[in-house]
Amino acid sequence: MGTSLAPYAAHELHSRGRRYAEPPSTYRGEYQRDRDRIIHSTAFRRLVYKTQVFVNHEGDLYRTRLTHSLEVSQIGRTVAVALHLNEPLAEAICLAHDLGHTPFGHAGQDKLNACMRDYGGFEHNLQSLRVVDELETRYADFAGLNLMFETREGILKHCSVRNARKLGDVGERFLERKQPGLEAQIANVADAIAYNNHDIDDGFRAGLLSLEQLGQQPLFASRHDEVRGLYPDLDDRRLIYEIIRRMIGTVVSDLIEETRRNLDAASPGSIDDVRDAGKPLVSMSEATYEQHASLKKFLYKNLYHHEQKLEMTRKVQAIVEDLFTAYMEDANRMPAEFATMADSVEGADRARVIADYIAGMTDRYAIAAHESITG
Ligand code: MG
Repeated sequence: MGTSLAPYAAHELHSRGRRYAEPPSTYRGEYQRDRDRIIHSTAFRRLVYKTQVFVNHEGDLYRTRLTHSLEVSQIGRTVAVALHLNEPLAEAICLAHDLGHTPFGHAGQDKLNACMRDYGGFEHNLQSLRVVDELETRYADFAGLNLMFETREGILKHCSVRNARKLGDVGERFLERKQPGLEAQIANVADAIAYNNHDIDDGFRAGLLSLEQLGQQPLFASRHDEVRGLYPDLDDRRLIYEIIRRMIGTVVSDLIEETRRNLDAASPGSIDDVRDAGKPLVSMSEATYEQHASLKKFLYKNLYHHEQKLEMTRKVQAIVEDLFTAYMEDANRMPAEFATMADSVEGADRARVIADYIAGMTDRYAIAAHESITG
């Protein structure tokens, strides 16, 4: 690391460590090692064929969960470095934050949650932790990736009290109403900054959003006027790119500056002071947050709930539901490894094996599996 870490950053020496003790790596720090384990995981490679907003086969140029995660990480790293925080930790959390996502984005997650209603539900964020703690099986000595506490703390963004009680160390903060470290707080905001901006690009590319509509959004409108003033003859495609890069720049700069002010005011002496601060210290200014939130609302209404998207939502939700029903009826429709696991347990545990299998699918794998059960 080029610059020294702030006292309130996550420091390896004060880490709560790994669940299973391991000898240190020769050349890498512990959070670098976490990042590398995440990149080498099977779940990470699957993200390339998982939906962000547009289902994978709708076009080659749309974001996928993988490129989304890379954009989140690039924003998160910039902010972490600017604030003298732990960059490899911020990067690891950003890259892992969506590892538990189902196929077909939120449509898939909502349907799987509905299918699992009587068996404890399904939540993609909790599933991301389950992937790194249990489901990846690559190491001889333990299940999961055996990540550092601070990485796992960051991956678990939110959690019900009921689930928190079952999770042990990483669940405690939800019972004690504490905050996670600053690197985790950054990953959380970087996620929202990334999708707010890249979804505009994808929505525009798909013809579902127009310049006129976007012009009603203050964050977009002010950058639009700026770019138009500088380049009056720019074509729409480059205009959009120029606006989006400026929007990201505006929001990220504001985030860094406001967070610096928050840190000055609270002057935490350690990561534990950050956890006890009573509220997140990583935040945008109120004015910028309002514009950012307004854009999020706009995308929700005009893109995620666009009639054309809803039609796709209905199709893919039927796929998830059919798969769940079919595997519940006959676990042998799954590969032998999952069938054996499902048949060795009962009730909610059996349903959980099936949910794990479906959640791990890529979009196209789920479509093929659906074809094979419906004929
Ligand atoms: Mg995300």
